[in-house]
Amino acid sequence: MEMEVSRPLSLRCSVQKYDWGKLGKDSKVARLFSRNSEAEIEPERPYAEFWMGTHESGPSFLVRGESGSPDSKPVSLRKWILDNPGYLGEKVVHRWGSELPFLFKVLSVAKALSIQAHPDKELARVLHRMQPSIYKDPNQKPEMAIALTDFRALCGFVSIELLKDVLAGVPEIVELVGDEDASKVLNIKEQDGYMEVKSILRSIFTKVISASKEAVSELLSKLKCRLNEEHKIRMLTEKEQLVLLLEKQYPADVGVISVFFFNYVKLSPGEALYIGANEPHAYISGDCIECMATSDNVVRAGLTPKYRDVQTLCSMLTYKQGFPEILRGTPLNHYISRYTPPFDEFEVDHCLLPPQESVVFPAIPGPSIFVVVDGEGRMRMGSAIDEEMVAEGHVYFVPAHSEIALTAAPAGPLQLYRAGVNSRVL
Ligand SMILES: [Zn+2]
Repeated sequence: MEMEVSRPLSLRCSVQKYDWGKLGKDSKVARLFSRNSEAEIEPERPYAEFWMGTHESGPSFLVRGESGSPDSKPVSLRKWILDNPGYLGEKVVHRWGSELPFLFKVLSVAKALSIQAHPDKELARVLHRMQPSIYKDPNQKPEMAIALTDFRALCGFVSIELLKDVLAGVPEIVELVGDEDASKVLNIKEQDGYMEVKSILRSIFTKVISASKEAVSELLSKLKCRLNEEHKIRMLTEKEQLVLLLEKQYPADVGVISVFFFNYVKLSPGEALYIGANEPHAYISGDCIECMATSDNVVRAGLTPKYRDVQTLCSMLTYKQGFPEILRGTPLNHYISRYTPPFDEFEVDHCLLPPQESVVFPAIPGPSIFVVVDGEGRMRMGSAIDEEMVAEGHVYFVPAHSEIALTAAPAGPLQLYRAGVNSRVL
């Protein structure tokens, strides 16, 4: 029998201390995690990701006393949902079963993440079956990042025009791929079809990314010398500066060279980037809110000490070219704006509520997770009399068909994010 839920369910969430995370108190992730779990922040440790959801690699738990279970063993949100699927709403259960379709995160990035892509559904199933220890689930993983601070990323392949500039301006790459391939790129014409361009781009990118360790380290030392020399007589381009930065973080790593092939995306706070299946990307620095389908499948090829699957990566990519779309959020009212990526599994609302103001998130037929990232206030679900005191680091699961009313405290604005299933499928 399902229990009656009359309040948002308070969650204790997981943290991932990957080595690219920001250290100690500099990390937004550390501050949220320590407030969420009353844990001390270790000043010398990296805090990379704060996970809110049901993925087994970083589960969230119901705060004791809210699980409805008489014993004091913590109940995971996943287990609770499996026992009470009705709270996901009919449409969600019909489509995804008793599983929360999205995973919500906060990231604090000090050092670049690996160059990666996430498989589509079909490939994810195959990879999971063949190498379950590396590809941990059979799901696709489209994702979206909303900048909390200035945020840097690499995403998708540059246009052919820019790639021609790269070959003209980076002789080390031409040397690596050979004149024949380089001239194929230089001879691409505007009227050439996608398949033709794709095969040229794929061939040259595969050559670069699968170059031998020796070739890579030789190329990088040459490139570094040249840039340091030229820096004395001209301003380096942003890409060249990025290459030098990444070379310090990942010496002799092929990922550093691949930077020239990708779009360099610089988000200001409030701007967002979404990434579909089979698109190459790497986050470089900054804090962000991230939402994705519930999956942890990553195919890596560079900027990482972890397992690289260059062959899979090169064959899975779409090789689509051009700058990615940047989302800025669509206002729903004075205080809430919505980020809607072209994926069914999720959307994200941002709410910035001035002191003492109130706002209502109307009831929707799907589940939500709320995370408070700044300030304090009060939260009420439906017509309940009880109010929750909410503050930075608090995370809540809100069942389908529940209205949420929020009021900011007098001391300062209340800022939070809500992840939910994309309204287009509800
Ligand atoms: Zn990713």
